[in-house]
Amino acid sequence: MGLLEDLQDRSGKVCEFCGTADTLSIYEVPPVSTGGFDGSVLSCSTCIGQIENPDTTDANHWRCLNDSMWSEHDAVKVVAWRMLSRLKSEGWPQDLLDMLYLEPETLEWAKATGEGVLEADKIVHRDANGAILENGDSVVLIKDLKVKGSSMVAKQGTAVRRISLDHENAEYIEGRVDGQQIVIITKYVKKV
Ligand SMILES: [Zn+2]
Repeated sequence: MGLLEDLQDRSGKVCEFCGTADTLSIYEVPPVSTGGFDGSVLSCSTCIGQIENPDTTDANHWRCLNDSMWSEHDAVKVVAWRMLSRLKSEGWPQDLLDMLYLEPETLEWAKATGEGVLEADKIVHRDANGAILENGDSVVLIKDLKVKGSSMVAKQGTAVRRISLDHENAEYIEGRVDGQQIVIITKYVKKV
């Protein structure tokens, strides 16, 4: 049997999200690595269209996840998680999300497209004036800084080029001063 037949068999020839029997095709859940049976969902064009075009998402359509998020297939659960995350400001999707348990590696898969990561939850590094810092920026120290673990003092006014951001902590960046890679606290720098 081919993949389509296998998925029809698994789903009973209905959309694995909303249950409609029309316009079904294979949706390969991104990021597609192996695709195939475990990485694909049989889905209708309405569901696929809304998954792929966030602007067209109709929250009410996704009330179908009330039932389908309990699927035993990870590919279905991963998309359910992404759509509920996208819609969580509506309220009810957040309630469903709270009930939806994904194994750790399945959750990693669900998060792989960045869906559900709110701007506000992203780590943003800002300098002393509130300007956003990016990897590769240059900054100037606005006070003398003792370098942890050494006797070195990085002087106020020192330029640090091509900083890198600490992706787990918005208060830290790294950069090279006097040939030494040091950690610097963002509130003591100014972007140049
Ligand atoms: Zn559907």
